[in-house]
Formats: sequence, C-alpha cells, structure tokens
Amino acid sequence: MLNGTKTFITNGPVGDVFVVYAKTDMGKGPRGVSAFIVEKEFPGFSRGKQFEKLGWRGSPTGELILEDCKVPAENLMGKENEGARILMSGLNTERTALAALSLGISRGAYEFSLKYAKDQVQFGKPIASFQLIQSKLVDMAMEIELSRLITYKCAAMADKGLVEEMNLMASYAKLYTAGVGMRITTEAVQILGGYGYLKEFPVERMMRDAKPQQIGGGTDEIQRLIIARELLQD
Ligand SMILES: Cc1cc2nc3c(=O)[nH]c(=O)nc-3n(C[C@H](O)[C@H](O)[C@H](O)COP(=O)(O)OP(=O)(O)OC[C@H]3O[C@@H](n4cnc5c(N)ncnc54)[C@H](O)[C@@H]3O)c2cc1C
Repeated sequence: MLNGTKTFITNGPVGDVFVVYAKTDMGKGPRGVSAFIVEKEFPGFSRGKQFEKLGWRGSPTGELILEDCKVPAENLMGKENEGARILMSGLNTERTALAALSLGISRGAYEFSLKYAKDQVQFGKPIASFQLIQSKLVDMAMEIELSRLITYKCAAMADKGLVEEMNLMASYAKLYTAGVGMRITTEAVQILGGYGYLKEFPVERMMRDAKPQQIGGGTDEIQRLIIARELLQD
C-alpha cells in the first residue's frame, strides 16, 4: 500500500498511468526506494489540485494523492529497493528530451524573428540590415547549432543504451540548451519590439515555454552540482 502526495506532476490531471517512486525500506535512504506503476483505477488513488502556470499551457500540471493505495505486486518495476537506479536512468533520458524541447523552442523563435527582421522596415531599411540586430541573429544561429550537437550526442548515447553512463552529458545538454532557450526567446521578443510582447505573435509564448526547462528534471543549479561532482571525482 502506498501513501503520500506528490506535487508538480506533468499531465497529472489527465494521465491514466503513473510511475511512482516510494520508500519501501525506511532506513536505507536511496537504497530503500522502489518504482511502481500506478493506474488511475487503483483504490486509494486520487488527483489533487491543477496548477495555473506561466507557460507549458498545453501540458496540465497537478497533484497526485495516494491514500492506502493498493498496488499489485506485478506492478513493481524492476526489483524491490532498486527504484533509485531506474529513476536515475529515466532522468538522463528525460534531460535529453528536455534539451530537445529547448532546442525546438529556440529554433522556432529564431526562425520567426529572422523572417520578421527581414520584413520589418524602419528608417527606410529592413531591421535585419542593422548590425545590432544581425549580432543577435548570429548568436541565436550559433547557439542553436551548438544546442543541436549536444542534444544529438545525448540522444545517440541513449540510443546505444548508455543511459547510466551519460550523467555528465545529459546535465551539460539540459543546462546549456535551457539557457540558450531563455536567451534566444528573450532576444526574439526584443527583435519584434512591441509586437514581441503581444499574444498575436508566438514569441512571447515561446519565452514563457522556455523557462520550465531551467526548473523541471532538476534545476540549473542541480545540473551544475551534478557536473561539478562528475568533474571532481577521481
Ligand atoms: C511545469 C513543471 C512540471 C513539472 N513536472 C514534474 C513531474 O512530472 N514530476 C516531478 O517529479 N516533478 C515535476 N516538476 C517539479 C520539478 O522537478 C521541481 O520543481 C524542481 O526539481 C525543483 O524542485 P522544487 O520546486 O522543490 O524547488 P527547490 O528544490 O525548493 O529549489 C528552489 C531553488 O533552490 C535551488 N536549490 C535547491 N537545492 C539546492 C542546492 N543544493 N544548491 C543550490 N541551489 C539549490 C534550486 O535550484 C531552486 O533555484 C515539475 C515542475 C514544473 C515547473
């Protein structure tokens, strides 16, 4: 029987099946955690509050509540007390997917603002002819190329089954691409000027959608701690 409440669950308000990590041996820390597949029909399962968010409006986020929730033995994932290993390998693929999400948002914001800069005329010239706008476009294009390289490298490692060996690369990829996503979407809003701030144009949404990648799957600060730990270990 599982007991507890978990906040911040992506698709919690609509999901049918959830992977839940729970303590099964209280004295053993991470070695006492197991992973379970919990289905919405299980007795003791309920949903809590759904949150209003800045971005990611297409993916509802909410709370899950487990009160004496009966989970059949066959729904244990892997072996008892080996949940932390499953969690860690899942986190690396999640971080790779979040890097891809940041990359896509960055590319969308860049392509939209590039076209806008070519079309928008000020002082008799397209704003793309101004070197300060060109400088923004150059940084965007370059950072997208680098984001693509690191994301594809991570995806290739995951494809080869190296999910447990890719801690460093997954943290590099998520941390780097999330920062790029925020920088590029903010610059895209800037290139569009006042129009960038309006909901009539997509870049304000992209800016709001870029932010969660610096928080979910382990915050930027936690990625830095992981990277430092990997760099400092013998
Ligand atoms: C839209 C969205 C969807 C999410 N979906 C899921 C989900 O599906 N499943 C799930 O499990 N979680 C989910 N989360 C939760 C997310 O993983 C957490 O919000 C995130 O890990 C940060 O934890 P916290 O909110 O408790 O912040 P805290 O841990 O309280 O952190 C607050 C601040 O302190 C910093 N901090 C914390 N510890 C340290 C430290 N040791 N050193 C330096 N700085 C530190 C953090 O980086 C952050 O800046 C989601 C979050 C969001 C916003």
